[in-house]
Amino acid sequence: MSAVADAEHGAAPDSVTRQIETRVAIVGGGFSGAAVAWHLLRQRPDLAQIVIVEPREELGRGLAYSAADPAHRINVPATRMSLIPDTPDHFNDWLEASGALEADPAARIGERNFPSRAVFGAYVAQALAALGPRLRHVRAQAEDIVRQDEGYVVTTSDGTRIRADIVVLAVAHAAPSPPRAVDAALSGHPRYVRDPWQEDGFEPIRRDDRVLIIGSGLTMADIVASLDARGHRGHILAISRRGLRSRGHPAAQHEPFGDFTSPPIGTAAELVRRIRSTVAEAERAGKSWHCVLDQVRLQGGAIWRALPLAERQRLLRHLRPFWDVHRFRIAPQVEAVLDRRIAAGTLAIRPAALKAVSREGETIRVDLRERRRGGRTEETFDAVIVATGPAHGSVFATNPVLAALEAHGLARPDALRLGIDVTPDGHVIGADGTALPTLLVAGPLARGTMGELMGLPDVTHHAIRIAVTAAQALEEHAAEQAA
Ligand SMILES: Cc1cc2nc3c(=O)[nH]c(=O)nc-3n(C[C@H](O)[C@H](O)[C@H](O)COP(=O)(O)OP(=O)(O)OC[C@H]3O[C@@H](n4cnc5c(N)ncnc54)[C@H](O)[C@@H]3O)c2cc1C
Repeated sequence: MSAVADAEHGAAPDSVTRQIETRVAIVGGGFSGAAVAWHLLRQRPDLAQIVIVEPREELGRGLAYSAADPAHRINVPATRMSLIPDTPDHFNDWLEASGALEADPAARIGERNFPSRAVFGAYVAQALAALGPRLRHVRAQAEDIVRQDEGYVVTTSDGTRIRADIVVLAVAHAAPSPPRAVDAALSGHPRYVRDPWQEDGFEPIRRDDRVLIIGSGLTMADIVASLDARGHRGHILAISRRGLRSRGHPAAQHEPFGDFTSPPIGTAAELVRRIRSTVAEAERAGKSWHCVLDQVRLQGGAIWRALPLAERQRLLRHLRPFWDVHRFRIAPQVEAVLDRRIAAGTLAIRPAALKAVSREGETIRVDLRERRRGGRTEETFDAVIVATGPAHGSVFATNPVLAALEAHGLARPDALRLGIDVTPDGHVIGADGTALPTLLVAGPLARGTMGELMGLPDVTHHAIRIAVTAAQALEEHAAEQAA
C-alpha cells in the first residue's frame, strides 16, 4: 500500500464533490509518475505534498511491473534498474537484502540478477510508501483537465476535483490494439487473448493447444515463457512482418563503445553506416555489437534531435524493427525457454502477414502470406494471442484524459504519433503551438521529441529531468503569484 492512499475512501457520496488543493498533481502512478514524485520530493524538502492519481492499488508498478506472473522477468540486470541512478546498486542491494533471491534462485545468472518484474514493482512501491503523507494517492482515473486561473483542475472518475499549480502527465502505455479483422472474427472465442497483460488471460489455453501469437518481440517472449511455465507443450507459431526475435545479453559485458554525436548524423542511412563501421571496429577489439548498441541508446536523445523530421520518419519506417530487437534484450531465463522450444520444434517464429481469419466452432483458420517464400498457407489453431505491444499511436483516442486535453486545445499528438507533443524540457505544446510552462510529460509518451525513451534506465533519467523542470516551474509560479 502506498504512502497515503485515498483508495479506501472509495467514491465520495453523490452530493459531495471531494476537493483537493495541491501544488503538484501527477496523473499516472506507474514507474514514471512514481519516479518524478520521489525525485521532486527529494529535491524540494519544503514541498508539503504531491497528489498522484492512479487507479492501480500500488504506486510505481504501472503496466510493466504489475505483472503477476513470475516468468515475466526484468530484461536488464538489476544493477541497471535503480530508482536512484547515482546509486546504481540501490535495487540490487534491496534485492539481496529482501529475501527475494532465496525465494527465486533462478533469478541469478552468474553475477547478475534478473528477478521477476513483480519484485521490481515491490521495490518501487516500498520506496514510495516510505515517503509517507507527503505523497497522497488518489486511487481513480483522471478523466478531465481544464485550466483554471493560473493552474489546472483535474477531475477523476470518483468525482474528485484536484486543483493544482503544476500537472505532470505520466500515463504512458495504451492497451494493445489487435488487427481489426482478427478482432471481428475471434471476438467471443474462449481462447482469443486480445490483451496478453490481463491477469489469468492464458487460463483457458490447454496443454496441447496450437497457439498463434501475433507479434514476435518481447511480449511474445513473455507469453511463451508464461505458457511454458504453465505446462503448455503444444505448437506455437509467432508471426510478425520481419519475423525478428529480440536478442539476448552478451556473454561478457563491455563499456558502451563508439560515438554517434560528433560530428552529428544527418540521415537514417548515415546512422546505419556509422553503426555498422563501429560494430566492425568493436569486433576487431574483441567486443560484441552489444556495447555499440548500448552507446547508440545512451546517445539516442542527441542522435534523434539532430535528425530532421523526414529522417526520423525514415528511421521509424525502416529501422525500428531492427533497433527494437537489438536494443530490447531478453532475460537469459526467457531466452533459454525460447531456445529450448525452438530446438524441440514446438516454437517457430516466421515473417508472415495475416491475410484472413475465420473460425469453425472453436477451430481457428488463418490464411498467412509468407514474406520470405512469398506463398500463402492456411493453418489451423486453437488459440490466438495478440502481442503487438501497447498501441501508443492511438493513445489520444483511448485515454480519456488525453482526449479531454486535446479537445480543450491543451495538448496534441506529436508529428510522428509516438505520443504527446512536448518541448525538449518536457512542456506540453498546445494546439496553437505554445508550450505550457506548468503542464509536463514524463515517460515514454515524450518519445516523439526525446527519441529513445522506453527502457527503465532512460525513463528514470527522464523522470529526474522532469522533476527538475517541475521544481523550476514551482519557483516561477510562486514568483508570479508574489509579484
Ligand atoms: C510489458 C513491459 C515490460 C517491460 N519490461 C522492462 C524491463 O524489464 N526492463 C526495462 O528496463 N524496461 C522495461 N519496460 C519498459 C519500462 O520500464 C516502461 O516503459 C516504464 O515502466 C514506463 O512506465 P510509465 O509509468 O511511464 O508507464 P505505465 O507503466 O504505462 O504507467 C502509466 C500509469 O498511468 C496510469 N494511467 C493511465 N491513464 C490514466 C488516467 N487517465 N488517470 C490516471 N492514471 C492513468 C496507468 O494505470 C499506469 O499505471 C517494459 C515495458 C513493458 C510495457
